[in-house]
Amino acid sequence: MNNPKLKEQVDSRRTFAIISHPDAGKTTITEQLLLFGGAIRQAGTVKGKKTGNFAKSDWMEIEKQRGISVTSSVMQFDYEGKRVNILDTPGHEDFSEDTYRTLMAVDSAVMVIDSAKGIEAQTKKLFQVVKRRGIPIFTFINKLDRDGREPLDLLEELEELLDIESYPMNWPIGMGKGLEGLYDIHHQRIEFYRPEEYGDQRFAALTDGELPADHPLTKNSIYQDVLGEVELVQEAGDQFDLEKIARGDQTPVFFGSALTNFGVQTFLETFVTIAPKPHAHKTEDGEEVSPYEEEFSGFVFKIQANMNPNHRDRIAFVRICSGTFERGMDVQLNRTDKKMKLSNVTQFMADARENIQEAVAGDIIGIYDTGNYQIGDTLYEGKLKVAYEELPSFTPELFMKVTAKNVMKQKSFHKGIYQLVQEGAIQLYKTYLTDEYIIGAVGQLQFEVFQYRMQNEYNSEVVMTPMGSKIARWIDPEDLDERMSSSRNILAKDRFDQPLFLFENQFAMRWFADKYPNVELKSLM
Ligand code: GDP
Repeated sequence: MNNPKLKEQVDSRRTFAIISHPDAGKTTITEQLLLFGGAIRQAGTVKGKKTGNFAKSDWMEIEKQRGISVTSSVMQFDYEGKRVNILDTPGHEDFSEDTYRTLMAVDSAVMVIDSAKGIEAQTKKLFQVVKRRGIPIFTFINKLDRDGREPLDLLEELEELLDIESYPMNWPIGMGKGLEGLYDIHHQRIEFYRPEEYGDQRFAALTDGELPADHPLTKNSIYQDVLGEVELVQEAGDQFDLEKIARGDQTPVFFGSALTNFGVQTFLETFVTIAPKPHAHKTEDGEEVSPYEEEFSGFVFKIQANMNPNHRDRIAFVRICSGTFERGMDVQLNRTDKKMKLSNVTQFMADARENIQEAVAGDIIGIYDTGNYQIGDTLYEGKLKVAYEELPSFTPELFMKVTAKNVMKQKSFHKGIYQLVQEGAIQLYKTYLTDEYIIGAVGQLQFEVFQYRMQNEYNSEVVMTPMGSKIARWIDPEDLDERMSSSRNILAKDRFDQPLFLFENQFAMRWFADKYPNVELKSLM
């Protein structure tokens, strides 16, 4: 446990995900961050949905067809002595369980908000997953170069809708065409939007919170208004509190414009300084493993097939929780107690998937997999013998009945379904009495990926009949009476044969709860 080199390396890791509603600017910011980190040379290489240049993170054919990022990929770069790992999450509204699970592998999250739109539906959903885990969350309010909502109004919405304290790290001076810059509260300086108008200086220092009286910006009434607003939020608002940030109870808020690359570098510099380093992870037994523990351990949070269509490979994404990964090392797989040799492993640079020599707690590695790994698996070295907490399952909201188109091909149909379910691509249920297959998902896109992969990987054409959205609630098997099933709900069982009801809507569920007050209805998360 006493290895200063390991501690130094681990402490330099910043592993986070960016969450947002589609079009808030996640891709644009990611590109700017990668540019600063020297990981890419030109913008437009991460995701080219508008230009037709497909990025390295868009591996699957289906992603190319739809021009969106289905899978959460990983991008790594070094910045000011820190090693930054960005875990991408799909910004599309048809996001899936993958997105949620990726959030289990990060130490913090960055929430991007469009300044004209405020908190949107998907931001809220993702935020809630992050909040439930108590992960620190940073906010970037984007598109300042356009007319948006008043900053005070946005902060208020943040606090009200998301139930979190906010602390403005900086404050916009104007917006849209009238954008002059940022009043940087944290660094006590002004950052100019058009430095050429202010003697080519990007920054001007503040003394007692103000510019020198002869500075040209002081003549601008917007500047005077901002002084008043900043004073107000500093007096009436919450104080900057690193402990609250670490618990996820306060979010530092940055303003900027990703498209014009304004405020992004300030964000990055501040973020790498205050964002948390890798934390200890809980085991099944409720104990914690320190990231400085010398023996290697980690868990699989995602399995991605077909990253390279020529090779049909699968990659198991592992979040390293302790110690050092070394190429060729032997580890133990907790579920099977099998020994595995980690020789074919990759790390994810934005412009090339490079083979790596060493990675430490906080980093993500990808292991080429021939079917040995499952989501939630723990890997460990030597005598460590840990099993990390189970990853949460997410209650699906959309359901489809599914059958094989060709009845002669039942074998490949079953094989495909079971493998994809094991991978966590989709959830599987059966009607309770008749054993018809029902698949469930968090987002519509999961169905499309499922159908595509059944066809392409298992040569099984499937017929899917939409059942629409349902509310899934599990009940204790002892409470089950088949007569409880009605036209407003479907009685089903999950793949562990546990009974559940799929209710048509809230009304049907309340009706059931009123009729059977002693039956407890349970959701997954
Ligand atoms: P994502 O869906 O969250 O990844 O969003 P994108 O990064 O693809 O951005 C969506 C659209 O908003 C694109 O047309 C961007 O060019 C645009 N955009 C992103 N950031 C800004 C910004 O700071 N200002 C303005 N005006 N447009 C932006």
